[in-house]
Amino acid sequence: MLPTLFLSHGSPMTVLTDTPGHRFLAGLGAAVPRPKAILMASAHWLTIGPALSAPAANETIHDFSGFPPPLYACRYPAPPAPDLARRAAGLLDDAGLGAAIDPRRGLDHGAWVPLLLAWPKADIPVAQLAIQPRRDPAHHLAVGRALAPLAQEGVLVIGSGSFTHNLGRIRREAAGATDAPDVAAFSEWMDAALEQGRTEDLLAYRTRAPYAAEQHPTDEHLLPLYVALGAAGEGAKAERLHASVDYGVLRMDAFAFRQ
Ligand code: ZN
Repeated sequence: MLPTLFLSHGSPMTVLTDTPGHRFLAGLGAAVPRPKAILMASAHWLTIGPALSAPAANETIHDFSGFPPPLYACRYPAPPAPDLARRAAGLLDDAGLGAAIDPRRGLDHGAWVPLLLAWPKADIPVAQLAIQPRRDPAHHLAVGRALAPLAQEGVLVIGSGSFTHNLGRIRREAAGATDAPDVAAFSEWMDAALEQGRTEDLLAYRTRAPYAAEQHPTDEHLLPLYVALGAAGEGAKAERLHASVDYGVLRMDAFAFRQ
């Protein structure tokens, strides 16, 4: 049975810049069993209700601006996974959550930045799962729980976001700086709650974790974590696979969830 993963994709420049987060993602493909397909819940596909991508081909979406030309040359032409998209939509329907199939959506940078580093051959089929920014962590945990059978079917469920994500505070000149104290305090609280399996605290992170709103002014980059946690099934254990910080405030932490 495969684990599920939460990955921080960081800045799109993660794919080109030699940072600890880049090196972690580059080693990830060799560290987990090769999946038959990947279901990627990305913080950069935001919808009202659950949705899955099933295009004829996975277009690489460069959904950012103001970055160097080499970033726009990146391509991740992984095969689409329409059967997986339909299977996942069926599981969400069965759980009463419903799901739409989008026949055009390609791969945004929340998906292709970590995938290009971890599985550079782009030979594993990928479908995306959307995040609902108007819904709470409990909704995303329920979406994940509905998808828990996939881990037994050779599908790797990944949530791609950012462990902290206050872009207004990024100091571009300070790449590699150590954590700001509030960023560290939030991350330590979240890490402890994850590793101790304190689901109620995690669901209420916004009122219980220190400096939560400061780390996530909007929380679409944390919500994929709840999808990954849920998709590992009830009682799953969390293991921190990686911790580092970019720009002093953007945590790159990654977790595996498994029974
Ligand atoms: Zn992002």
